[in-house]
Amino acid sequence: MQIQPSLFDNLELENNNEQQVKQTQLPAGDEARIIELRETLHRHNHNYYVLNQPTISDQEFDHLMRELQDLEAKHPEMADPLSPTQRVGSDLSQGFKQVVHERPMMSLGNSYSIEEVQDFLRRAKEGLGGEPVEIVGEMKYDGTSISVTYENGRLVRAVTRGDGVRGDDVTANVITIRSIPLELPKGTDYPPKFEVRGEIMLPWASFERLNKERAFNEEPLFANPRNAAAGTLKMQNSAEVAKRGLDAYFYFLLGDNLPYSTHTEAMDAVRSWGFKVAHTEVLESIDAVADFIARWDKDRKSLPVATDGLVFKLNSLRQWLNLGATAKSPRWAIAYKFAPERECTKLKSVSFEVGRTGVITPVANLEPVLLSGTIVKRASLHNEDIIRQLDIHDHDMVYVEKGGEIIPKIVGVDTKQREPGAEPVKFVTHCPVCGTPLQRVEGEAAWVCPNKWECKPQITGRIEHFVGRHAMNIDGIGEEVAVQLHESGMVNNIADLYDLTVEKLVGLDRFQLKSAQRIMRGIEQSRQVPFERVIYALSIQFVGETTAKVLARNVHNIDRLMEMSAEELAAIPEIGPKIAQSIVEYFAVDTNRDIVERLRWAGLQMALSEEELANRTTKLEGKKIVISGVFQHHSREEYKAMIEQHGGKNVSSISKATSFILAGDNMGPAKLEKAQKLGIDIIDENRFLEMIE
Ligand code: AMP
Ligand code: ZN
Repeated sequence: MQIQPSLFDNLELENNNEQQVKQTQLPAGDEARIIELRETLHRHNHNYYVLNQPTISDQEFDHLMRELQDLEAKHPEMADPLSPTQRVGSDLSQGFKQVVHERPMMSLGNSYSIEEVQDFLRRAKEGLGGEPVEIVGEMKYDGTSISVTYENGRLVRAVTRGDGVRGDDVTANVITIRSIPLELPKGTDYPPKFEVRGEIMLPWASFERLNKERAFNEEPLFANPRNAAAGTLKMQNSAEVAKRGLDAYFYFLLGDNLPYSTHTEAMDAVRSWGFKVAHTEVLESIDAVADFIARWDKDRKSLPVATDGLVFKLNSLRQWLNLGATAKSPRWAIAYKFAPERECTKLKSVSFEVGRTGVITPVANLEPVLLSGTIVKRASLHNEDIIRQLDIHDHDMVYVEKGGEIIPKIVGVDTKQREPGAEPVKFVTHCPVCGTPLQRVEGEAAWVCPNKWECKPQITGRIEHFVGRHAMNIDGIGEEVAVQLHESGMVNNIADLYDLTVEKLVGLDRFQLKSAQRIMRGIEQSRQVPFERVIYALSIQFVGETTAKVLARNVHNIDRLMEMSAEELAAIPEIGPKIAQSIVEYFAVDTNRDIVERLRWAGLQMALSEEELANRTTKLEGKKIVISGVFQHHSREEYKAMIEQHGGKNVSSISKATSFILAGDNMGPAKLEKAQKLGIDIIDENRFLEMIE
């Protein structure tokens, strides 16, 4: 179903209509059921996502949701952009409209010690002419801030902080966040119009899942949950946002003539309307503040979301008004920042893992330790050079930190606690799986097992990569099945997959007819997967998704790709000498050429289709193009596709390397300023369409 931001402009009106309907005629049958289901589902959402206390099973929930979806499909006149069915998001893309904040969104002053907090309190007291102050302590959530406005109990708008004065209208994405109420429960005493401010968060668990998936698809990883939350909130496709598992915690209530005199009272009210509210505690003395800091520096590590400190606020809202703000931040609140999270634990052993390209990764096995909400048992040691730099010895006490990687990294060693006689950790000289002597790649830190065709993790790794969602998208083959297929002797390389049959699969241990059929269906459908993804699926070192696209567009078919020299390949924009060399080496191996022939024989797409060939041009070859603003003729997604079709590349941020900006209405002021500063051309959609005509 479609959710247009413009729909939200009329919410107040719609809401009034609904009330009128209720007064004049009682909704009958389906209509009454729709209203009842919406209320019930809103309540169960709250129980599940805010209170963590579901009262019905997931199946029962799905059942009610299905019923509501069916009824809404039957009655389009009852459509409501805030129905619980809308939480799943929309496939339609939307440009973001910019909205001016009614009250600017400010940042907070920082402090790093209890003395600095004391200074802050002294200044506040002075500013208030010596009045006593009451202090409230809260978590400082490390996500991305959001302002959400409600009118007559209904969510009307959600806007990012932006530059503090204006932000992006991300309403369609925010309503997919299940812990944010769309309609407040009837009978609670919410003001007719108010704004809540809080932090959109990607919980650790979702963050890790997302990065794991991205690593598997060879996409760049998010450095931390904050970047991931901000990136997710700005996605164009709200259905994708819905899948990521965002959450939100609120810490401010704003509005005209609100009936509360303290922040804690206001937060209690916000909580009673169904929001997840920051943990808020009144602190009676500076000692209580110190205790609060000490306690939460420890306890925050078991929270499900990232925090980077605490916030101390005066409790009296009257004092907020009296103190006011500096140009950047309020005088009645201050942030207290924690040192980055780091833990010390014992190194139990180091294991060496073999990836699909044969690269050996050293992994530290640790005494389990709690870090940023998850138990850490393993940490990456990256490569031999890092091991040497750390000078890590057997059973050392090591410091671990969580960075952008899926598994945390070791950042240092406590040499004082080293066991006498401990030996330095040594990198293996032979493959830990197949025993082949390792080779060091020229100019790189990595050691590689060269036994491509018999080393088990390399074989199964390539199969897993081949069937992956961004490659041939064959469902039903995960790590376990890949290993099973290999061990059975049926699949030793990716081409062997096309000799499988349902009969052969059900002959395997624990294999159900259903899963066999699913795999065969996936294999059948993979014959239609476009050429660029076939190139990606082959596991040529350094050829990721983007490179595979560039190759398909420029080289057009596999025969040409197989005979090109490194020089010819490197002449293609975006293909560097390292990638070119790797492609040549890949096709120099007879086994690889045989596999390609068998895949061709199996019916895979080994060239661009006629249609793709006809539509493709190189008019934008080598151009890096930023898209910004809202467009009239086509959606952002369509413009992205056009850029690719004509050989250009869509990039997200402006830099010196940007060729031009394809700008619609309401281009972001920050982007505009940056473009002007760097002297980058701004091209409107009409001129762009002429360019590619
Ligand atoms: P900073 O961005 O480091 O200047 O910190 C200010 C930001 O902290 C605010 O804009 C909020 O987005 C965020 N924040 C997180 N938790 C809280 C909280 N409990 N109270 C106020 N602001 C918070
Ligand atoms: Zn090996």
